[in-house]
Amino acid sequence: MIEDLIKEQIDKWDLARNNYAALARVKVKELMVNKCLYKVQFNPARILSSAAKVDVQSIKRHKCFLCAENLPSQQTVLSAVDHYNILVNPFPIFPKHLTIPDKKHLPQRILLHFKDMLDFAYLLKDFVVFYNGPKCGASAPDHAHFQAGNKDFLPLEQDWEQHKAGCVVQIKEGKIWQLDDAPRTTLIIEAKNAEAAMTLFIAIYDALPLKKDDGEPMMNLLTWYDQERWIICVFPRAMHRPSCYTDVGDKNMLISPASVDLSGVFITPLEKDFDKITAGDINCILQEVCLSPKDIEAVKQKIKARLL
Ligand SMILES: [Zn+2]
Repeated sequence: MIEDLIKEQIDKWDLARNNYAALARVKVKELMVNKCLYKVQFNPARILSSAAKVDVQSIKRHKCFLCAENLPSQQTVLSAVDHYNILVNPFPIFPKHLTIPDKKHLPQRILLHFKDMLDFAYLLKDFVVFYNGPKCGASAPDHAHFQAGNKDFLPLEQDWEQHKAGCVVQIKEGKIWQLDDAPRTTLIIEAKNAEAAMTLFIAIYDALPLKKDDGEPMMNLLTWYDQERWIICVFPRAMHRPSCYTDVGDKNMLISPASVDLSGVFITPLEKDFDKITAGDINCILQEVCLSPKDIEAVKQKIKARLL
């Protein structure tokens, strides 16, 4: 079903065909930050997303690009799954990259949609499914959506177990793990059923800092289903875009981290940034956009207090 959709879109839609062909030739380099692998992908087609203006006024000025009535005429909509449409993302990072918007124009919020995300991870077993919070890299913060990309692509999907640094809490059918991956502050839920995944996710959600005027705690999420359990990576966020995004001169880098970057594939739409970025830069960016050691410790304490 999904394979046919991808093939059909690449066959008939020039934009998709050209961008998927370009992706096959992108430059990639590898950097290590605290023993964790980060790939850097030079992907010029992602400039639209990385440079997207996501303030309320800018969003209001443009037609929503995830509402069905505004989709390009060449875009095929797979609408068979409940209240979602499945689309091929014409600006791919993954060799197979999907966008999964709600059929309705509802704001990007995780709590009401978390169970759906688990269902998609179960349904799309060859894919990881991810969520970018409204102030954490989503370029359509006004329209609820997930994205999905093929497995065997993100370093964290492949190596998270090597970085386990202990269990934060354990319930009957699931656990929350912490990783030795500073300055990233990942919490990983491993759950054998959806109820356990929900219980553990809500415990994390309620423990995260909530900024005044925000609709939810800042976060990115990545999930997949494998060996009869869900793995859900929660990346709590302190900041939307790092200081290098607005720095002037040599320090400037157009990098707007979201789930994919935090899972180990940093996207640089500009070649100058691809050429110059170092492991030290990624370390600095993670330090800025992830929680501080003190804040992640407080989150873990709150989770334990609730579930132990
Ligand atoms: Zn919309």
